[in-house]
Amino acid sequence: FSERLSVRRRKDEMAELSNSLNQLASTLQQVETNRRIFLATIAHELRTPLSYIVGYIEGIEEGVIKPEQGMAIIEKEARRMNRLVNDLLDLAQLEGDEYPLQHDVVVFAELVREACETVQMRAKQKQMTIRLDLDEDCIIYADRDRMKQVIINLLTNAISYTNRGKKIDVNLITVDKQAQLTIRDEGIGIPQADMPYITDRFFRVKRARSRKDGGTGLGLAIVQEIMAKHEGSLEIKSVEGQGTTATVTIAQYE
Ligand code: ADP
Repeated sequence: FSERLSVRRRKDEMAELSNSLNQLASTLQQVETNRRIFLATIAHELRTPLSYIVGYIEGIEEGVIKPEQGMAIIEKEARRMNRLVNDLLDLAQLEGDEYPLQHDVVVFAELVREACETVQMRAKQKQMTIRLDLDEDCIIYADRDRMKQVIINLLTNAISYTNRGKKIDVNLITVDKQAQLTIRDEGIGIPQADMPYITDRFFRVKRARSRKDGGTGLGLAIVQEIMAKHEGSLEIKSVEGQGTTATVTIAQYE
């Protein structure tokens, strides 16, 4: 009897093992598929500006395109490639362990003002005002440069996806020992159906895909990675046609 029992148990164990192996195989297959899709997307995103650059150089050489006209486009496309490569490098660094965060005691309001200065020019070009309401006593323990990048990325989106002349509100408050930074725009908003995907790499809402504003579709993926590394969070709420509110939350330093 005991012999029969152990045979059955062995059978069960074999079935369980084969089940686990099947699951592992399908997970690995999924990882491999994702990796291939990611590489293909990168190649595609880089090929587009590159083909413009090559095309315009040929056009200039053949005398079909005026040099000044061609050079402006070549420069714009080269800059776009530069942004893409920088964003990809940032993401790769954030994912690996080679570049740990440099934690510092940071006056959050100061960092917000610095980020605003960085995007000020862009806001001015669109006659937009950025209104600040900041808790000056809010201190966080964070990687200064990375956190500034978070704020710059969110402000850049607020400016890019909002029509001329509108306002952007930036609020910093402290609630339950958490610093909460909110960036609210009165822009085009995000369709509800697209909301689950906006932090995915390379995802861009259809209307934003015209390459005029030069987005890479990596900005929010970077923000999310940085916030996760700070054990903080990113939350985005949006009403299409009315505007978007992005909130980042991080523990207050005590
Ligand atoms: P991008 O470089 O395209 O801005 P992001 O990762 O920063 O990439 O954002 C992904 C997409 O989410 C954008 O292409 C845009 O469609 C949408 N989006 C992000 N922020 C906003 C915003 N404030 N208002 C409207 N749409 C936004």
